[in-house]
Amino acid sequence: MPRPEDFAALYALLDEPVVEGDCGLYCAPHNEGGIPFCCDPRHAVPTVYREEWAFLVQRSEMWRPWLAETPEETRRLWKETPRYQLPVVCQGIAACARERPYRSLVCRSFPFFPYFDRPGTFLGLTYYWQYEDRCWVISHLDRVRPAFREAFVRTYERIFALYPQERETFRYQSMLMRRVFGRRHREIPLLHRDGGYYWVRPRDGRLRPAQPQEFPKHGVYAVIENLPFPDDPP
Ligand code: SF4
Ligand code: SF4
Repeated sequence: MPRPEDFAALYALLDEPVVEGDCGLYCAPHNEGGIPFCCDPRHAVPTVYREEWAFLVQRSEMWRPWLAETPEETRRLWKETPRYQLPVVCQGIAACARERPYRSLVCRSFPFFPYFDRPGTFLGLTYYWQYEDRCWVISHLDRVRPAFREAFVRTYERIFALYPQERETFRYQSMLMRRVFGRRHREIPLLHRDGGYYWVRPRDGRLRPAQPQEFPKHGVYAVIENLPFPDDPP
């Protein structure tokens, strides 16, 4: 049974930056209001585990339950959220800079989720494809730090021990991604837990080795790649 105190250890496990530097500086200029997309509730509403919520509210005033502009919208999102989690909103990036230790697991993991193959093995990391056009990291998978990848795998192994139902959640999410990418005739980029890079063929889940530089850029980052001005982000 998970306890609020378990989140101290989980936060310590997943305390690695995704890339060198602050990727928010690269995506924020492309979002109205200059906020990183994953910190803007118009684009992404984080969820926390109920025990994580209990851990956070004892230590920080950073988070509050998420309420939409209309009761109907609030009810809809709460209904879509698994019963063992709740949708939340933080006090913004200034508060986050002051209270870094209280970023949620979702904040620390974004834009990645654990990828499961068809038989149900946790193979590594892939990303929430809905953010392909906005998230700078998704367009720069070759920049993901090995230490982050390792920490992510260790953290999610621990989460699956605490919340066994999460294996099914992410297995379903992986199946959904195979279905979506299959329809688009695309392969799925995988940062494998063995340290390698692969393409996953959606039809049968077959892995094909990849070079990290092969992974495509999307949205505005694809445009920028073809317009190399000197002050573009590295
Ligand atoms: S994870 Fe993606 S969306 Fe979030 S700050 Fe980094 S680049 Fe922006
Ligand atoms: S806590 Fe920080 S990283 Fe998480 S959504 Fe808020 S501003 Fe973004």
